[in-house]
This record gives sequence, C-alpha cells and structure tokens, in this order.
Amino acid sequence: MKKIKTLQCINCGKDHKLDEVKYTCLACGGNLQVLYDYNLIKKRLNYEVLKENNDRTIWRYMDLLPLSGFKNIPPVQVGWTPLYKADRLGAEAGVPNLYIKDDGRNPSASFKDRASAVVVAKARELKEKVITTASTGNAASSLACLTGSLDLKTVIFVPETAPAPKVAQLLVFGAVVIMVKGTYDDAFDLCLKASQEYGWYNRSTGVNPFTREGKKTCAFEICEQLKWETPDKVFVPVGDGNIISGMWKGFVEFHRLGIIDKLPQMIAVQAEKSDAIKRAFEAGGEIQAVSGETIADSISVSIPRDGLAAVMAIKDSGGFAVSVTDAEILEAIPQIARGSNVFAEPAAAASYAGLKKAASAGKIKDSESAVVLISGNGLKDVQSAMKSVGRPFVIRPDIGELKKLVVDNKLA
Ligand SMILES: *Cc1c(COP(=O)(O)O)cnc(C)c1O
Ligand SMILES: [Zn+2]
Repeated sequence: MKKIKTLQCINCGKDHKLDEVKYTCLACGGNLQVLYDYNLIKKRLNYEVLKENNDRTIWRYMDLLPLSGFKNIPPVQVGWTPLYKADRLGAEAGVPNLYIKDDGRNPSASFKDRASAVVVAKARELKEKVITTASTGNAASSLACLTGSLDLKTVIFVPETAPAPKVAQLLVFGAVVIMVKGTYDDAFDLCLKASQEYGWYNRSTGVNPFTREGKKTCAFEICEQLKWETPDKVFVPVGDGNIISGMWKGFVEFHRLGIIDKLPQMIAVQAEKSDAIKRAFEAGGEIQAVSGETIADSISVSIPRDGLAAVMAIKDSGGFAVSVTDAEILEAIPQIARGSNVFAEPAAAASYAGLKKAASAGKIKDSESAVVLISGNGLKDVQSAMKSVGRPFVIRPDIGELKKLVVDNKLA
C-alpha cells in the first residue's frame, strides 16, 4: 500500500513494513503507529475535497486509513456523530463555549465502532477467518455488532463483571462469548494467548495497530463540524489510552496536511483508582499498575495497554490529566442529560465530570472552547444510571390518588 510509509514503534522508534508485522514491535514489543506518506495524501485529500464529499461516515477519510479501498467495510453507518453546542450545560459548568460530541450515536452505541470498523475491514482484506478481542465490554459489543452479518467468526473475552446490556449485545449479534473469572487485564492476557495458539486475528486495544486509525476519525469530524476550527481543549475519558492517543493523532495529521492551522490541548480524564496514565504523566515516569476499581467499567484498567502513547498525547499537546471519583461520575450522568439531552454511560460521563473539575480549578478560560467526548450511551449500563437519580411515583390507576400525589408533590 503506497500511502503507508511505516509502522513505527512508539517505544523504540523501529520502522516496520506493513507486511512484515501484524501486531507489536519486532524489536521491543512496543505498540506501533501507522505513518503515512503525507505528501502523497496531500494531493488527494484537502479542505476542498472534504467539503465536496457527501459521505457522512468515517469512510470519507479513506485516504488516511490503512485500507486498500471500500470493498471490505462493514455495512452499517459508523461515525459522523453529532457535535452539539451545549449552552445550558456549559453555563452550569462555567464553560461558555462547550461542545458535546455524542459518540453513543454509533451502531453499537459507543465510540469503539470507529476502531472495530477499520479492524474488521482489515481482517477481511487479510482474509482472516476468526477475529477476537478482549474488552471491558464496548470493544466487544462493537466488534460483535459489526461482524453480525459477515462471514467472520467472532470470539470475545470479557471479564465476568461486564454490564448485562453489553453482554446481551454480544449474544444477540452471535459472537462466541467467553466470560473470564477475573479482571479486564486477565481477559486481555487470555485473549492474547488464544490469538497466538489458534492464529485468530486480534483486535485488542494496544496490540492491534489499526484501532488508533479508526479512533482518529473522531478528531477529523470535530474539526469539520467546527467549520475547520480547532477546539482549545478536548476532554477524553481514558482507560487504556487508545482513544486519546488516536484523537491526538487525528489532529496532528489534519495539521500536517494543512487542513487545520492549530492543535488542541488533550485533557485525559480518569477514574480516581484507575489513573495509571495520570500518574505516569504527572510523575514523568513509567506506567505502573493501579487497582483499576471504578463503577465506570469502560475505563476500569489496571495496566493501560496504550499508556505510553496516551502520556505522549497529553504531553505533546500541552494538556493535563484530571481524576474524578465514582460519586462525581454518577452525579454527572443526570447533569449531562438535563443540560444537553444526551444520556451517557458512566465512563462517558467521566469526561464531563473532569471538565467541571478543571473549570472550577480555573483551568479553562472563558474565551476557550472545549469539546467533551461522550464515548458511550447511557443504556449500556442502566444499573449505574439508576443510582444517580430518584425513583418513579407508583400509584393505582385512580384519579383520586393522582390528585393527592400532585398536591403532595406540588406538581401543578
Ligand atoms: C473504551 C472506552 C473508553 C476509554 O478508551 P481507552 O482507549 O481505553 O482509553 C472510554 N469510554 C468508553 C465508553 C469506552 O468504551
Ligand atoms: Zn520497539
């Protein structure tokens, strides 16, 4: 593929040819990033070309994706999710220029569809028969959804604690579901071994160099939706660190192609006990394991699988990291819903909780624009959502009882 120059190791810098390596660096085992021939791409992809393109999916960026064409893409609409100016929510947080990117509006209701779509297309290009992933839930339900009607057998490893709606998605779409008695990290290691043992194509985050390529499309969309302006700050919920490093790569590539002329600051939001990336960034040292415990299952990670790239994204963008408690995460769910009409799952709500914290610490200027990424839909985990709201009234179907309820609760 002429457009791809190298698969470069993020850790040691070693270059690899596309057909020389499938997953990680052959010298040190580090994660790889895809680097393109940007001078070549510049001739095909620019502001004018994008403006004329009516394809409202991630495939409008095909020139910047590691695929040879449209032939193998899954048959559902991924990407081009709405970006809302959230005035009410912004007023509450004290951030007048607040935008919400609602990525819960993807086929399987999470951001992960961006990555799965690219990896599924790649697997079909490579004529793989079986695809596998380990996941806290969303990467799995996304992969199962996108392979649902395809001749690509899907084997999923999830921790026993994955929320029921995500497990339901897996089973409905017909994946083989293996629940691991352990954490996400245990499921990850087992999936890796299975991939080696049986030759199954591994989509797992960090290991597969192409997930970041799908994820960067979210940054492209934000630039286009803001009429080619770059936001000042982008708040991203962070677990493994693949979304934040992917989005940063997207901004950098658009900048390199001359499509935008400024880069944003990337702000990582982590759950208090799942904050390995925040710690490594602030201490300037290696990633170290943390407990990973949080109600926000999608960002519950003990050892981040793309930690180095995430730390670099925060650093290179001049950003920072924030951590939030489970209580702050739960509180943010109804706040986002009532302030912007969007229902977020706990991990997604964390990014708004982080924005509020940063704003009250004086880290966001009034003149600055901020995008909060809502990475997954609230229906993914209704049990957690119910913890943050009241109970419904329950009455008999009787007007007398209704009248009493209305008076007692001053509803009219
Ligand atoms: C996966 C996921 C994240 C975190 O992404 P990482 O790449 O693991 O940092 C955040 N929110 C949701 C809803 C997710 O599914
Ligand atoms: Zn290396």
